[in-house]
Amino acid sequence: LTDFPYSHVLVLGLAKSGTAAAKLLLDSHIHVRVNDVKVSADEKLVKELTQVGAEVVTGSHPLSVLEGIEIIVKNPGIPYDNPIVQEAQNRRIPVITEIELAGKMVEGSIIGITGSNGKTTTTMLTAQMLAASKQAVQLAGNIGTVATDVARTLKAEEKMVLELSSFQLMGIQTFKPKIAVLLNIFEAHLDYHGTFENYKEAKCNIFKNQSSDDYLVYNAEHEIVAEAVRDAKSTKVPFSVKRKLENGAWADTSCIYFKNEKIIDKREITLVGEHNLENILAAVSAAKLSGATNDGIREVLTTFSSVKHRLQYVDTINKRVFYNDSKATNILATQKALLSFNKPTILLAGGLDRGNGFHDLLPYLINVKTMVLFGQTKEKLKNLADEAGIHSILVKDVTEAVQRAYEVSNTNDVILLSPACASWDQYRTFEERGDMFVQAVHTLM
Ligand code: ADP
Repeated sequence: LTDFPYSHVLVLGLAKSGTAAAKLLLDSHIHVRVNDVKVSADEKLVKELTQVGAEVVTGSHPLSVLEGIEIIVKNPGIPYDNPIVQEAQNRRIPVITEIELAGKMVEGSIIGITGSNGKTTTTMLTAQMLAASKQAVQLAGNIGTVATDVARTLKAEEKMVLELSSFQLMGIQTFKPKIAVLLNIFEAHLDYHGTFENYKEAKCNIFKNQSSDDYLVYNAEHEIVAEAVRDAKSTKVPFSVKRKLENGAWADTSCIYFKNEKIIDKREITLVGEHNLENILAAVSAAKLSGATNDGIREVLTTFSSVKHRLQYVDTINKRVFYNDSKATNILATQKALLSFNKPTILLAGGLDRGNGFHDLLPYLINVKTMVLFGQTKEKLKNLADEAGIHSILVKDVTEAVQRAYEVSNTNDVILLSPACASWDQYRTFEERGDMFVQAVHTLM
C-alpha cells in the first residue's frame, strides 16, 4: 500500500467502517488499537480483530487509549466534542475519517460522486459503464462495500467508484478523488448539517483538494452548483440537459453527446425519469474521462432500468405496469417520479407524518386518476386528492394498497409506489416498504 507515515493508529468506533479501517491498517502491518464505547460490540468481531493483531478496548473511552498513538481514524458518527477526540486535538494528534484513510492508502484511482439526490444511481451507472468497457472497477458506498474495504484489494490500475454522502465529506482534510462528480445541492437536506452553508461546504469538500490534473464533473444548469465550483482549481467538465457544451456531456431533444461526439439516441435509453437524464450525463462524463468505450456506455444505457426502490420497474401484469419508488421519502422525490410518466397513473402514497403539508404535489398530479393512501399521512393526502378532484382510497398498508390499486386499474395504467413520506410509522426502512410492494405485486399473478 502507499506511503502512510504512521505506525500506531487508534480506530475510534467499531462499526462497519471502523472494522474495515482496522483491517486495512493491519494488512500493512501497522499497529492498531480499536476503541468502542459499547461493551456489546460484536464478540465475534472483537475476536477476529484480536486474532489479526489488533488491540481492542471496549466499554468506555479511557484516555489511556491515546497512549503511543500517532493518528486517529474516527467514525463519522463520533462527534468532535467526544473527550478522546478533544484530548487528541490538545495533544496535536491528527484525527481523520475512514474516507480520508482510504484515500491515503488506496493504490488505484477514485471516482467520487456526491449530490443531494442521484448519488446511488450515478454511482451504479458509472461503475457499470466502466465494467462494460472491460475496466476493473469496484463500487464503494451506500450500496457497495465501505471505501477502506475496497482499498484493501484495489490494484493500481483499478478504479473505485465511490458514493459520498455529505456526512462522509464533512471531515475531509486532504482527500481528493481523481474525478469528482457534483450532481446538485438542494436545501431539503438540512436535518444533519444545521445551516445550508455548512451543508454546501461539506459537498464542496469533494473538490477542495483537487488540482488541474483532476476532473470536476458538475451540473452547469444547477445555479448553486455552478456558483459553488466557480473557483475550483480542478479541470471542470460541466454537463447540461438543455444546451450544447464544448467541454462536457449534454443532451438535445433527441440524443446525448459528450463534447462533439454523439453517444446515444435518447429513445434507446431504458432508464425512465427526467432527473435520471442528469445522472446519465454525469455518469457518461465520469466514464468517458476514465476511458470507457462508447459501446460499453451504450450497453449499460440500453439495459439499465433502475436501482432498487428508485423508480424501479417491477413487472407488467395484465398490461398494468408497476413501479417501486419507495426511496421517495419526500415531496421532491415524488414530484420527480410523477414527471416520469405520461400515462394514467395510480399513485400509492403515505407514511410518517413530519407535520408538513402536501400542497406542492398538486401541480404534478395531472396524470393521476386515483390515489391509494396509507400510513399516518393518509388523511392529509386525501384532502389533497379532494382538492385536485382525484378519486382516493384509504387503506391499511402497502400490501392492501397494491390489491386495491389493481382492482380499480385499467389496461396501460402505471401503478406507482412513490410515498412522499418516510416509512418509519409502518416499516423499518424504505427498503422493507419497497420489498412489501414488490411482494404484493407478485401475488397478483
Ligand atoms: P441518493 O443516493 O443521492 O439518495 P438515488 O440515486 O438513490 O439518490 O435517488 C433517490 C431519489 O432521488 C430518486 O428516486 C429520485 O426521486 C431523486 N433523484 C435522483 N436523481 C436526481 C437528480 N439528478 N435530481 C433530482 N432528484 C433526483
